[in-house]
Amino acid sequence: METTTKANPVESSAVYPLGSRVNERGHLEVGGCDVVELAAEFGTPAYVYVEDDMRARARAYKDAFAARTDDYEILFASKAAPFTAAYRVFAEEGLSVDVASGGELHMALRAGFPPERIYLHGNNKTDAELRYAVEAGVGHIICDSFDEIRRLDAMLDRPQDVLIRVTPGIKADTHSYIQTGQLDSKFGFGLEDGLAAKAVEEVRASRHLRLVGLHAHIGSQIFELEPYVRAIEALGTLADAEIRLLNVGGGLGIAYTAEDSPPSIETYVDVKVAGVRRVFEGRVPRILIEPGRSLVGNAGLTLYTVGTLKEIPGVRTYVAVDGGMSDNLRPMLYGARYEALIANRANAPADTLVTVAGMHCESSDMIVRDARVAAPRLGDVLVTPATGAYGYAMASNYNGVPRPPVIFVKDGDARVVVRRETWDDLVARDVE
Ligand code: PLP
Repeated sequence: METTTKANPVESSAVYPLGSRVNERGHLEVGGCDVVELAAEFGTPAYVYVEDDMRARARAYKDAFAARTDDYEILFASKAAPFTAAYRVFAEEGLSVDVASGGELHMALRAGFPPERIYLHGNNKTDAELRYAVEAGVGHIICDSFDEIRRLDAMLDRPQDVLIRVTPGIKADTHSYIQTGQLDSKFGFGLEDGLAAKAVEEVRASRHLRLVGLHAHIGSQIFELEPYVRAIEALGTLADAEIRLLNVGGGLGIAYTAEDSPPSIETYVDVKVAGVRRVFEGRVPRILIEPGRSLVGNAGLTLYTVGTLKEIPGVRTYVAVDGGMSDNLRPMLYGARYEALIANRANAPADTLVTVAGMHCESSDMIVRDARVAAPRLGDVLVTPATGAYGYAMASNYNGVPRPPVIFVKDGDARVVVRRETWDDLVARDVE
């Protein structure tokens, strides 16, 4: 008899965490842990992260830079996964961190990031947030408005290193909600309208602010790298010899479905380093990047339980699960696409077209429209991969739903790194 070995779609997929497989029981296994057992032990919905995957991506960034330059800094854009265990992983990997609020700053400090490795962002930092950063000795503050430049300078009695956020006038090829580099943006100072040059002047004329660098982040979930080169060229028109740091943002896209083929981390780093070298010939500044999604997105997946099936003959079959927009807002926010897998029959043919619906009181609360899965049954464990970025981060308690726990898996061991919220948590802040 002739046999053909067919690569398992999970093992050969760029969507699932590194090292994922289907085990002898036909269950999805990640980080050496059977996902069906994880669901039984920790309940659903739950976010599961493969720690080694996160570390491998951080190392891929480090290796790619180290092969090209020795003057670089990689910042974990912590908005993508703002919980202590993630901060710790990347602090241990030697990364710096991008925080975008006082709350993220607090988490980064508590997780052990040395203040000098912290970069504070935000288009409307409050006085309290700026004061917190100043008092904590945060290494760099990225100035985003004239008002902020004046407020920050006024509260200082010592020098503070700052960068200026520039909107370089580049439109990245991604969803308009996550484009940030175009002139018409709430972020930063425009180049075309001369405001960035004016901000440089104003910082230099300030009493305490030391302008050490420029920053540009043109958007997120980007597959096409050429706009980065144009953004670097734009920054080059503003930079002079005193600019020691060039932060060229994050933004590398990831595979959410099998159709997505983003550039590799190595190619992305190569384009950025080569671009900076070419534009800044002879005076190459330190190159900073701040990836979020591409460090954590594919490391994470969400586990749900199938609770209700609703077949509307000739129309569609809804598979309702015990989560939804409260744990993954992206489909609603950007029309984001995901895959789905019945984890307890992971080898069964994906021959049924369904729509995975959430449990919230919104008709648009859909997690995956038109997913192909094995015929679903009540009680199945349904998994959506590639939910490690901006899922937990944007979670809410809509409809009184406690937020899911975060489980880290590694070498067959699982540990809770963020506990599940309880119904009591939902009223813990209520004043009676
Ligand atoms: N840096 C800044 C200033 C951002 O606004 C963002 C995302 O919104 C990032 C970095 C991270 O982007 P990504 O997760 O696409 O790498």
